[in-house]
Amino acid sequence: MAGEPQADCLFCKIVAGEVPATVVRETETIVAFRDINPQAPTHVLVIPKAHYPDAVSLAAAEPQLTADLLREAGEVAAQEKAVEAGYRIVFNTGAGAGQTVFHAHAHLLAGRGLAWPPG
Ligand code: 5GP
Ligand code: ZN
Repeated sequence: MAGEPQADCLFCKIVAGEVPATVVRETETIVAFRDINPQAPTHVLVIPKAHYPDAVSLAAAEPQLTADLLREAGEVAAQEKAVEAGYRIVFNTGAGAGQTVFHAHAHLLAGRGLAWPPG
């Protein structure tokens, strides 16, 4: 069924507590944890607890949950004191764009200058 945990999914294992992570925020529907290979001083992954392969399929299936994800990314930015300086929220979508974990996730990046275009 859509949204159900997948046995072979790393982020489902983090949601289940089977793989450790440095969690910085958790709600009923969302968990946010530090990226293991940070690309900025603040690099937090914000994920729905439900499994969808990418952000667009999440949005198609569960618009409210997608809104939760985005709002909570903003809350993490506030926790990280990144609002004034600015931050970036990225959804790599598809292997060609660098997606390596096929469980929807927002990258929240902050704490350094963020070049545009991003490359
Ligand atoms: P993607 O490349 O799919 O957009 O992002 C996946 C992210 O997950 C990468 O930035 C990678 O560093 C991070 N990542 C991969 N494995 C782990 C892990 O076991 N724990 C944590 N916290 N992050 C991970
Ligand atoms: Zn998953």
